[in-house]
Amino acid sequence: MNSSQLKYKSSRRRRRRTGALGRSFIAVCAIGIAVLLFTKPPALIGMLGPGNAQGIQEPGQANEPGLPASEPQHLVSPLEEKRRERVSQLAETPHELGKVPIIMYHVIGEPESEWVRTPDNLRRDLERYYELGYSLVPLQAYLKGEIDLPEGVSPLVITFDDATIGQFRFVTRHYVEDDGARKPMEHKVPDPDCAVGILLEFSRKHPGFGHAATFFVDFPAPFEVPGEVRDKLNFLLECGMEIGNHTYNHRNLPDVPADVIQTELGKLSADIQKLTGQRPMSLALPYGSYPRDPDNKQYLLAGEYQGDAYENLGVLLVGAEPAPSPFHVALNRAAIPRVRGSEEELSKWLSYLDSSGTRYVSDGNVGTIAVPEGELDKIAPKFVDRFDLIVITGQS
Ligand SMILES: [Zn+2]
Repeated sequence: MNSSQLKYKSSRRRRRRTGALGRSFIAVCAIGIAVLLFTKPPALIGMLGPGNAQGIQEPGQANEPGLPASEPQHLVSPLEEKRRERVSQLAETPHELGKVPIIMYHVIGEPESEWVRTPDNLRRDLERYYELGYSLVPLQAYLKGEIDLPEGVSPLVITFDDATIGQFRFVTRHYVEDDGARKPMEHKVPDPDCAVGILLEFSRKHPGFGHAATFFVDFPAPFEVPGEVRDKLNFLLECGMEIGNHTYNHRNLPDVPADVIQTELGKLSADIQKLTGQRPMSLALPYGSYPRDPDNKQYLLAGEYQGDAYENLGVLLVGAEPAPSPFHVALNRAAIPRVRGSEEELSKWLSYLDSSGTRYVSDGNVGTIAVPEGELDKIAPKFVDRFDLIVITGQS
């Protein structure tokens, strides 16, 4: 047994410890939602199901990497079968300097167009990511280099810009399920055809996939219903989803002075904190446009508004390719590329990642970076001391 095999053994123990954290998270999530809606939460908890936003496995569940609880063979669906095969194959060649697709969606609705994805197509996208061996990771986990996935699974980040209604719509339900019986009870749940509802339903059926997503919001009313803003923002956070900064007024930033940039970013950050107790930690540039004055670019990552500091761990662009690994020297936090969530762009980039062998594949251990032999010099220096390196031979 060589040293890298030993590392993999220890990684399995690490995953089990993380599973216990996952259980606490689910409990906090359920309690939070109950408080939020001032009503009985069973329907919501039912939607969330087992698993948190990152899709961390429960201890003892994962007989195969990246898959939900072990099931009798005859119950495994063709989709699960395909994922299982893909993940087992990828586990042979972990590659944590590989690229990570950060998908960018805008409107979820009808009809499909350049900036619109239909609910059914979004469902198909999730199936496709799942089948290909991807699981969702929170954007902040990517930005911090804390990608915690089973061996052979690849990270994928989902983002939504503009906080349009199709991303998050509440519907009123008039009953709750209690031991198989329906009891009258009026309460709000995510519309099963909005992005939040679709993500929660998919991760309930496929807990290994998770439902992490970042919503880059702007004001005056994220998700378009003024009376529901606070509840929706808190709902997202309770579920482990993230709120990102998209400027207060969806402001085009190339020609505005430094104080306006700081007002646009700082006011949104302060208002989200007032509404939720947490600040956004990432920015998506409206129209993908940078300040033209090079001196003003610093205010995208950090600045101040009315005496309050704000910061962003990363600045995301509009388009146009998969992002570098968080450990790769090529990652520029002030300019992180995304892939547009359209049929053509998704097909192009998902195929490219596989055919070029440049896809990030986890080694199953958050404490190590698995690096192909020829790319050791591509690790960003600040990570070299923080992580154990595992050199993967026989891979370009
Ligand atoms: Zn926008």
